[in-house]
Amino acid sequence: MVTTPFHNEPHLFADYGRFLSGLFPFKVQKLSVNGGFGCPNRDGTLSHGGCAYCNNQTFVPAYCLPTDSIRQQLEKGKLFFRRKYPDMRFLAYFQAHTNTYAPLPVLRRAYHEALSVDGVVGLVIGTRPDCVSPALLDELAELSQRVHVLIEYGVESTRDEQLSDLGRGHTFKQAEIAIRQTAERGIYTAAHMILGLPGDTPETLLLQPAQLSALPIHVLKLHQLQIVRHTLMENQYAEHPERFDMLFATPEQYASFLCQYIARLRPTIVLERFTSQSPSEMLIAPRWGIKNHEFVALLRRELKRQGLWQGKHYGV
Ligand code: SF4
Repeated sequence: MVTTPFHNEPHLFADYGRFLSGLFPFKVQKLSVNGGFGCPNRDGTLSHGGCAYCNNQTFVPAYCLPTDSIRQQLEKGKLFFRRKYPDMRFLAYFQAHTNTYAPLPVLRRAYHEALSVDGVVGLVIGTRPDCVSPALLDELAELSQRVHVLIEYGVESTRDEQLSDLGRGHTFKQAEIAIRQTAERGIYTAAHMILGLPGDTPETLLLQPAQLSALPIHVLKLHQLQIVRHTLMENQYAEHPERFDMLFATPEQYASFLCQYIARLRPTIVLERFTSQSPSEMLIAPRWGIKNHEFVALLRRELKRQGLWQGKHYGV
């Protein structure tokens, strides 16, 4: 397993910025790129509807036009940052849809095109746990000897009935297997979770940190449930609002809960993010109106107020 570079440092939590600073001697920024890949949960292989909450438009930046080549998208993305930080380097973040869902030669071409762009020093590949083959992992393991490679798995929940209700089309066991197969090849591995899904309670959610901590993940991305337009969940929410407890109706409720969650996590798991921020015109609920950095400041204050830090109750 790859070790994180700030084992046992006394911080409220292991943040992603410090993780990158430990890996690279220069400033590094993730740049989203749309490789034009599909998704088996949308093309009919698993289903046509997609996951209940999914609308990829909510997280694809404007410069990621699938009509542009990967190189063009990355060059446009670089312009945003290079003016302010001329020496900045980049990680190509294959974010939209399922970025390992294509024949191996197609994937290889896409990843290598990204890596051939000046200043790109690694890949972050977002995908589903049921869409990675041993052959692909072997190839990415080889690549990771030379450049940074991280595979980010959409795990979303540790409860199979919830994954089924969301229409994910995979189980938690499948996520566990994919994560283990990835990490044992020496590839950095991340899990993405949604907190506050229908059926979640604080008690069920607080079982998650132990389950996730037992997996060989290096990075964890969390976000609150958001109901966004043009999703199956939009209809479910309109028809049966009583099924949505909206556990985290306010950022304060979420921050207060997250302190307990983080305290139970393995201290070496890097926490990359805690919230998601859909564009206002796309968001139905909850409408917090708070920026990511404001939420992180709120969370830090709340951790101090509760006398907690990442790992304080790990294994207890
Ligand atoms: S969340 Fe991911 S797996 Fe689910 S439908 Fe959207 S792109 Fe496909």
